[in-house]
Amino acid sequence: MAQNVPKKQMAQVIEKTGGPVEFKEIDVQQPGPDEVLVNIKFSGVCHTDLHAVNGDWPLPTKLPLVGGHEGAGVVVAKGDLVKDIEIGDHAGVKWINGSCLACSFCQQSDEPLCPHALLSGYTVDGTFQQYCIAKAAHVARLHKDIPLDAVAPVLCAGITVYKGLKESGARPGQTVAIVGAGGGLGSLAQQYAKAMGLRVIAIDTGDEKKKMSLEQLGASTFVDFSTSKNLVKDVQNATEDGLGPHAVILVAVNEKPFQQAAEYVRPRGTVICIGLPAGAYLKAPVFETVIKMVTIRGSYVGNRKDSAEAIEFFRRGLIKAPFKVVGLSELESVYDKMKAGAIAGRYVLDTSK
Ligand code: NAD
Ligand code: ZN
Ligand code: ZN
Repeated sequence: MAQNVPKKQMAQVIEKTGGPVEFKEIDVQQPGPDEVLVNIKFSGVCHTDLHAVNGDWPLPTKLPLVGGHEGAGVVVAKGDLVKDIEIGDHAGVKWINGSCLACSFCQQSDEPLCPHALLSGYTVDGTFQQYCIAKAAHVARLHKDIPLDAVAPVLCAGITVYKGLKESGARPGQTVAIVGAGGGLGSLAQQYAKAMGLRVIAIDTGDEKKKMSLEQLGASTFVDFSTSKNLVKDVQNATEDGLGPHAVILVAVNEKPFQQAAEYVRPRGTVICIGLPAGAYLKAPVFETVIKMVTIRGSYVGNRKDSAEAIEFFRRGLIKAPFKVVGLSELESVYDKMKAGAIAGRYVLDTSK
């Protein structure tokens, strides 16, 4: 079953690890029996896509590769087994493109941990193309009143930070430090935290990210990691009693903050590791971790229920993070800005340009 699907399309393709990405015409693929073909209208650019180009994680990508995993669009074809999503419905292609639905992790809704999970824009082709395939069971269902450009960043960044905030156990009225607050995940994390009734200490660098955090995203304090003379003290002093935030959400792309968070988190506090800087190690002082009873935990995207919940926060108008739209053809220049740490919020690609 299909509707007006062309044979050829434009895509951004990596032929070899290290790049570059090439904007070129490729074939449109046919969905398998349990898959849908989504006409991607907009796709966010996540720092994970840059890790995939650079090959800096201990997990190889497919090659050649079409990256991207924050794709919002319209279902244009589906396989015979797909019964619960129709052609014309709006859908989101996420990082988890598919999973086996049978292993012990899938059985308990931990599908990101499935040993057979397919990863969009990493182990299968992703959303930096006009037509993208995903397993029907895993595409996000998007209500038709949701704008497809603004929701794109929610499909990885939003889901991931929403899940991370839930994993932190922080409760309304408590304080959370968001480290890497000015980037894609960080800007959404500030909005989700606010919507969940948390106070936010934003940690990042530069005037643009400071202004965005304090004036647009609702942070109560901004700590600049590159000018602060004593980051640990500055973060603790940003809490009323000086004892530090109840939770820390690490979404930075540098190792250093992964080695500082346990020092400024509050006694009984939780450090949630989400960012994936290349080759990085976690470090924490044993003495302080023990006597403060600190929890340090990893958090990896979200399951289908987390995804639906994160999208529903957005649909209700609670999540407004800045994004800039440029053409799909301009991906390389987005990567250049990302490498320089010069993106406040998220870039979203319009696949028609
Ligand atoms: P981004 O480039 O948009 O933002 C990263 C931010 O970190 C930038 O604003 C940068 O200034 C800031 N930063 C760098 N060094 C810092 C420091 N020392 N202290 C505080 N902030 C610092 O990247 P993004 O798209 O938000 O992704 C962030 C990371 O999260 C990437 O490594 C990405 O691969 C990872 N990620 C993980 C998951 C997951 O499920 N765990 C999901 C999506 C992305
Ligand atoms: Zn991502
Ligand atoms: Zn599984």
